[in-house]
Amino acid sequence: MNFTETDEQVALRAAVAELGRKYGYGYFIRQARSGGRLTELWQEAAKLGFIGVNLPVEYGGGGAGLYELSIVLEELAAAGCGLLMMVVSPAICGTIFARFGTPEQKQHWLPRIASGSAIMAFGITEPDAGSNSHKLSTVATRDGDTWVLSGRKIYISGVDEAEAVLIVGRTADTKTGKLRPALFAVPTDAPGFSFQPIDMDIVMPEKQFLLFLDDVRLPADALVGEEDAALLQLFAGLNPERIMASAMAVGSARYALDKAVNYAKERTVWSVPIGAHQGLAHPLAQVKIELELARLMMQKAAVLYDAGVDMAAGEAANMAKYAAAEASVRTVDQAIQSLGGSSMTSEFGLAAMLANVRTTRIAPVSREMILNFVAQHSLGLPKSY
Ligand SMILES: Cc1cc2nc3c(=O)[nH]c(=O)nc-3n(C[C@H](O)[C@H](O)[C@H](O)COP(=O)(O)OP(=O)(O)OC[C@H]3O[C@@H](n4cnc5c(N)ncnc54)[C@H](O)[C@@H]3O)c2cc1C
Repeated sequence: MNFTETDEQVALRAAVAELGRKYGYGYFIRQARSGGRLTELWQEAAKLGFIGVNLPVEYGGGGAGLYELSIVLEELAAAGCGLLMMVVSPAICGTIFARFGTPEQKQHWLPRIASGSAIMAFGITEPDAGSNSHKLSTVATRDGDTWVLSGRKIYISGVDEAEAVLIVGRTADTKTGKLRPALFAVPTDAPGFSFQPIDMDIVMPEKQFLLFLDDVRLPADALVGEEDAALLQLFAGLNPERIMASAMAVGSARYALDKAVNYAKERTVWSVPIGAHQGLAHPLAQVKIELELARLMMQKAAVLYDAGVDMAAGEAANMAKYAAAEASVRTVDQAIQSLGGSSMTSEFGLAAMLANVRTTRIAPVSREMILNFVAQHSLGLPKSY
């Protein structure tokens, strides 16, 4: 058991924090409010090797692990400028290609995902399936040497910025006819593929989309990895997603807590700074503890994942995402309380941040589905659905 980071990890944390300070929350919120993107930050982070830090060296990555990738996202979010597409492109898609892609798929995707020049989105959620991924109705049918894919996806982030979407569809088993999951790389300019932005009330630069796949014809090698092992491959990508969502939530909450603490040290409306009143100091201390606990579980999940202990990493990743969502919501809420009226101003932007961290309770997997997972898998309780 080792609770200290290596010299390389400490240096990475410091270098990313420095880049984060250069852009900061001002840049993030300006881009979000004006309909802009975080392209400059993405490109600079990529140039410094941060986006592909977890991907194999032979494909242009940094050769480190998910722990290091989570450092990158946590530190950027702690500076107020987390990159949501890191959860998707290098963490889910990059990992799945690196672990299960054919040599050609690795050669085609990994160097460009690592260099940040290609962004890949990820689409599993469907309008009528939602949390129930057994009900996915996006189906791929084999037609000679090609696949024909049809279905709908909803709330898919960053499709406008992406070169392709890794789509979770289903194929029919040739023997039983039963549908089982399969992953497909679908270029965003493929004929039959279209997407429509969804009006959202959250203030973030990455937009969410409704996807229409109408008889999208794809070459045989659009199928990622093995048709038979898609479930294993899918979870190899979903656990990193949960760890990275935790990193983004923990980082954002660190940002809000910093703001609150600095404000509480300065602001004086009686004879002492407001932070001296225990009514304000204790809830801030409480969320600090909750945040550190969530962070610890996130780090445990990342270490387990990098060690290849997939089952234990899955349990820890779920618990980390639960804890990070809860801690970040309570932290941002307490930061808002600490700033009083100022928290509601655009200058501080904390009210806008609340909706963003609140999303972590819903996506990429909801609080209730994590509780279901823990009830059934960790505690062995029976299933109600
Ligand atoms: C900002 C944002 C970005 C997103 N980006 C992506 C993306 O890039 N790619 C992607 O594929 N998806 C994405 N999503 C979708 C997200 O993963 C889903 O919203 C989430 O999984 C929940 O699904 P749902 O919205 O259909 O809710 P539903 O499944 O309809 O659930 C609604 C409520 O019912 C509860 N519920 C459902 N079933 C049960 C049960 N058995 N027991 C107890 N409670 C239950 C849920 O917990 C939830 O509280 C994004 C969503 C948002 C908001």
